Amino acid sequence: MHFPWCLKKCPYCDFLSLAEPDASSLPHDAYAQQVLRELDARISQGFNGLAELELGSVFFGGGTPSLWEASALGAVLAGVLARFPNHHECEITVECNPTSLDLEHANRLADVGVNRLSLGIQGTDDERLRFLGRLHSAELGIKALGDAVASRVPRVSADVIFGVHGQVPAAARREVARVAEAGVEHLSAYALTIEPGTQFGALARKGRLPQLPEDSVAEAYLEVEEELHRRGFGHYEISNYAKPARESRHNLGYWRGHQYLGLGCGAWGTLDTRSQALPHGISVGEDTRALRYRNLPSAERYLKARFSAAFQLGEGVSELEPLTGETLLSERLMLGLRLAEGVDVRAAALDLGVELDAARLSALARALGAGELERLPHGDSVLRRQTANSSIPGATTNEWPDVERVRIPPQAWLTADSVITRLM
Ligand code: SF4
Repeated sequence: MHFPWCLKKCPYCDFLSLAEPDASSLPHDAYAQQVLRELDARISQGFNGLAELELGSVFFGGGTPSLWEASALGAVLAGVLARFPNHHECEITVECNPTSLDLEHANRLADVGVNRLSLGIQGTDDERLRFLGRLHSAELGIKALGDAVASRVPRVSADVIFGVHGQVPAAARREVARVAEAGVEHLSAYALTIEPGTQFGALARKGRLPQLPEDSVAEAYLEVEEELHRRGFGHYEISNYAKPARESRHNLGYWRGHQYLGLGCGAWGTLDTRSQALPHGISVGEDTRALRYRNLPSAERYLKARFSAAFQLGEGVSELEPLTGETLLSERLMLGLRLAEGVDVRAAALDLGVELDAARLSALARALGAGELERLPHGDSVLRRQTANSSIPGATTNEWPDVERVRIPPQAWLTADSVITRLM
């Protein structure tokens, strides 16, 4: 669920975020009603298997959804849960900014059913926070984190950015240590990346953005990792750490290739076209396995959209792309190889109805031989059972080489991007 507004646009941010310094002027209730209208339309437009699926997680992202009045956010959440009766133990997260979260607001979110907060604290050093264009001080960030942890919301995560100009690697370590000490159960630590289309991107193009050399960023990554290991956090994804059994169910869903319904202005969704009927108005090729769409990124236009009987471009939707099994398999590899649990290549291919071709198999074999990938002891036995009667050649025999569950060895995650690129 995308809530697109922020008090101010951060210079490094390439998410859809619309600056609105006065949160009281936002269309809190109108936006909530429109999101629910969209949800009803998606269900009635023909994604008719949707509401029977298990709802594993709801994620209010942005933008800054902690700017949304808790009553309006709660109305959306109640509406979603009512339409998806199968939501046992659903993880419900709200992304928050320190400038719009205090104890009272966190408790209001708990009261409407939110069970996880993800706080974009980004750092604990005032000079670095100013460089990142953040509106809050280190002190306010730590206070908001303390309020989140002390609130009735049971689970708290924090985001931190390292590799920022002026930060020595030991300082990156000290900053995550301070965040961990506040009592979070999950921490996402991202190296600062300069994206085209952002203010930092424009400055970098003109050579006017001071940046750390790559070696220092790599050293900071290792410092962060060591500190969080020492504090009992498992490194379960390249940029994500969690206390035991506290991984983000929502993010794991993306990395494992689950389908997701995107609602709200600018939201992305990817829906499986095999587990439910195709929506009205859509015709796709035989090899299509999923539809990816993006909602209108203009809040004004999204709020005025009339969701008609057909799921089509213009009806609140600005992009629509059918995805083949081959494309989805590449995505599963690309995302699954970011995980400590790795990816079961054979089970993924079977699930998507794709044959592993010789080129992909030899690329995997080469990476295994070079030590860029390693095998994990067992594959996904549940999926294997589900596909035991598959008609895909090789599915039920041992014709395929033993590539099964593989991963990039965690000690080589610093160079994961180049390994993944070679496998695509
Ligand atoms: S608060 Fe978050 S979403 Fe909003 S502009 Fe800054 S980084 Fe982007």
